[in-house]
Amino acid sequence: MVQATVTTLGFDADDTLWQNEQFFRQTEERFLELLADFGDRSALSSRLFAVEKRNIPIYGFGIKGFVLSMMETALEISDGRLDPGIIARVLTMGREMLNHPVELLPGVRETLEALADHYPLVLITKGDLFDQERKLTASGLADLFNAVEIVSDKSASTYARVFAARGDGANKGLMVGNSLRSDILPALEAGAYAMHIPHDLTWTYEHIEEPVEHPRLFVEENIQKVFEVIEKINIKSVDLRI
Ligand SMILES: [Mg+2]
Repeated sequence: MVQATVTTLGFDADDTLWQNEQFFRQTEERFLELLADFGDRSALSSRLFAVEKRNIPIYGFGIKGFVLSMMETALEISDGRLDPGIIARVLTMGREMLNHPVELLPGVRETLEALADHYPLVLITKGDLFDQERKLTASGLADLFNAVEIVSDKSASTYARVFAARGDGANKGLMVGNSLRSDILPALEAGAYAMHIPHDLTWTYEHIEEPVEHPRLFVEENIQKVFEVIEKINIKSVDLRI
């Protein structure tokens, strides 16, 4: 008898299940406008990214760290001449992001509902615990997941641990996500299958320059393709047994 090849499905959340990066971009636009007197757009944008990157090991991922990085950038570039009103505006923009309604990506609910009857589903997301929990609740998807793992960062050991704890190990797990850097490469490294669904907007930090090729990697345009991916994996594994 052929054993099921994939027994557990892992899903990234931000920009895989719901929109996220677009809210960061919109807020960054407003921030750059606010600081237009202090330099040109692209220089300010690069400066903000450098500050964000520097702060990740301190604040972790998420909106709160982003707000602190915007404030730090504003203070740095204004050389102490900053209108305190600007800091107040940045705090308001952060609160608006933290209260923003969750917008599911097309096909997400139906796909997860159909999968949940057959597989344990695990949400594996990085970022701010409080905010990710809020978004999961607001998404209305929480009941479809057997487990939720909100982690500070995603490495191969994260996927090895999660798929061992929530399934039958990484080599029987399929990770679905939009970020090569966070969802795909470390999952493949852990021995899992990976389905990459590129999103139109991806944060510079998550970019990977080199094309990735791997026998366990599938690149698809939307989440509904997960059924085909599972089928392809199962057919492949049957071939291997002949
Ligand atoms: Mg993501």
